[in-house]
Amino acid sequence: MNQEKIGKFIVKVRKEKNMTQQELAKKLNITDRAISHWENGRSMPDAGIMLDLCKLLDINVNELLSAKKIVKESYNEQAEENLLEMRREIESQNKKILTLNRIITFLGVVIYLLIVLAAIFIEMPMIIRNIIMALALVMLLLFGVCNLNIIRKTGYYECQECKHQYIPTFNQMFFGMSGITKGDIWQMKCPNCNKKCWHKKVLTKIMKNK
Ligand SMILES: [Zn+2]
Repeated sequence: MNQEKIGKFIVKVRKEKNMTQQELAKKLNITDRAISHWENGRSMPDAGIMLDLCKLLDINVNELLSAKKIVKESYNEQAEENLLEMRREIESQNKKILTLNRIITFLGVVIYLLIVLAAIFIEMPMIIRNIIMALALVMLLLFGVCNLNIIRKTGYYECQECKHQYIPTFNQMFFGMSGITKGDIWQMKCPNCNKKCWHKKVLTKIMKNK
């Protein structure tokens, strides 16, 4: 999605409608600065306001996202392309989150090991050593819980039996089993078919065409 192109398109249709930024802002109940941000390609109108904006500009959301007026015949094609583009964006975003999460997990384990090694090899009273080890373990556990939550909320898990895609609950994942050696898969009970089987991570929900 090209924000700059979309911005230019908004300017063009707004002018076609003989509206100033202020007039449009007033009708949408937002500041004219927001409009100018969109038009400069610095931000996108958020989903909540997109429909109202399109209605005022006499275009549809698809045209807004494509930054051009679409003739009827190519409408479906363009809609599909926009959906794909959106999926690609979500996918690459989720991929980044998961990679970052992996790096942070690795660093967390390294820091834990360093603290434990330090506690073992540096001369100190037994009680202090035990406290440090216990605190490090608590830190590692908290860290693990946060990480699991990030993995859980990024993308979806797909049941290999019935292909149902969903975001599992924390408990489901916590008590499930990770197939670490086989990639990002998790053994859980499927809320749809109730079978316990491997669930594969998918980065975006696959939209079913009817
Ligand atoms: Zn299932």
